[in-house]
Amino acid sequence: MKVGFIGLGAMGAPMAQRVVSAGFETFTTIHKCCEPADALARMGATILTSPAAVSEASDVIITILPADAELTETVFGPHGLLEGFSPGKILIDMTTCTATTLREVEQALSAVQGRVLDAPVSGGTAGAANGGLTIMVGGDLNLLEYCRPLLATMGSRIVHVGPVGQGKVVKIINQMMAAANLLMIGEAFALGVRCGADPTILYDVIKDSSGYSRMMDSRLPGFLLEGAFQPGFKLDLMKKDVNLALDSARAQRVPVLLTSTVSQIFSAASGAGKGDADFSAAAQYLAGLAGVELHKVQKETSAANPSSK
Ligand code: NAD
Repeated sequence: MKVGFIGLGAMGAPMAQRVVSAGFETFTTIHKCCEPADALARMGATILTSPAAVSEASDVIITILPADAELTETVFGPHGLLEGFSPGKILIDMTTCTATTLREVEQALSAVQGRVLDAPVSGGTAGAANGGLTIMVGGDLNLLEYCRPLLATMGSRIVHVGPVGQGKVVKIINQMMAAANLLMIGEAFALGVRCGADPTILYDVIKDSSGYSRMMDSRLPGFLLEGAFQPGFKLDLMKKDVNLALDSARAQRVPVLLTSTVSQIFSAASGAGKGDADFSAAAQYLAGLAGVELHKVQKETSAANPSSK
C-alpha cells in the first residue's frame, strides 16, 4: 500500500513519521515550510510537487489539515488531490472540520470511483508521537478493515462510529467538552488562588475528586502550572472547533448556552493575541481577567512578597 500524507503540522508530522517508520512507502508535498517534509524525506519518504502528484502516486491519501477551507483547497484547488484521483484510490481525512465539507469531498471522489474514510483524532501531539491516538472512523466497515493496519500505526483505539461525516460529529462533541473543561479549570483555579490555594495542591487533590477532568493532566503540568504555552494545539484551532459546534447547534436548533460563553472567551483570548499559543492560554486568559496568574513560579514570587497581593 503506497501512502500519501498531506498536512505535516503539529499532529501530521509525527503521525506521518510513524507511517514511514512502519515501512509504508510514503509521498508528501511541501506547504509553506520545507522542514517537516525534509524531515520525512530523511526517513525515506518522497517529496512531490503538488497534492495531485501525491494522489497520483499513492493508493491511500491521508489529510490532516487545519479546517474546512484548507481541505477544500487541497482537494479541489489547482493541482489538488482530485486531479490525481482514479478508481480504487482512498482518501482518509483526519481533519477536524464539518461533516458537510467532507461529504462534498466524498461526492466528488466517488464520481471518479474513489472512496473516503472520515477519521478525526484525539490524543494530542503526545498521542501523535507515540501512536496512542483515538481515531473515530466514519465510513464503510470493510474499507475501515482494509485501512486498519495503516490507521494502527497512528492510533491505539480505532472506533467505528457510523457513516462518513459521523467521525466529525463525534470529534466536535468531544471538543465542546474539552474546551469547557479547560475554561472551568481557569475559572475555578483563579478563585482558588485568590483565596490562597496553591494551584499544585488544587491539582493534586482534585485529580482524585469529583471535579476532575482529563484536561487537568493534559494542560496543568507543562502548560498552566509553568506559564508555558508553546503549542500543542493552537488556540485558534480550538476556537474553530467550538465555532463548528455552535454552527451545528444553530442548524439543529439545539441550545448550547455554555458553549456560547466558551466561544466568547476563546474569541476574546484570540483577539488579545493568543491565537497561535497553545489553547490552554485561554484558561490563563480567563484567570487573568481576575488578575490571577496560575503558574506556580509567579505564585511563589508573590507568596515571598505578601505586600504585592
Ligand atoms: P497545524 O496548524 O500545526 O498544522 C496544519 C498543517 O497543514 C500545517 O503544516 C500546514 O502547512 C498544512 N497545510 C495547511 N494548508 C495546506 C494546504 N493547502 N496544503 C498542504 N498543507 C497545508 O495544525 P495541527 O495541530 O496539526 O491540527 C491539524 C488538524 O488536527 C486540525 O483540524 C486540528 O483541529 C486537529 N487536531 C489537532 C490536535 C492537536 O493537539 N494539535 C489534536 C487533535 C486534532
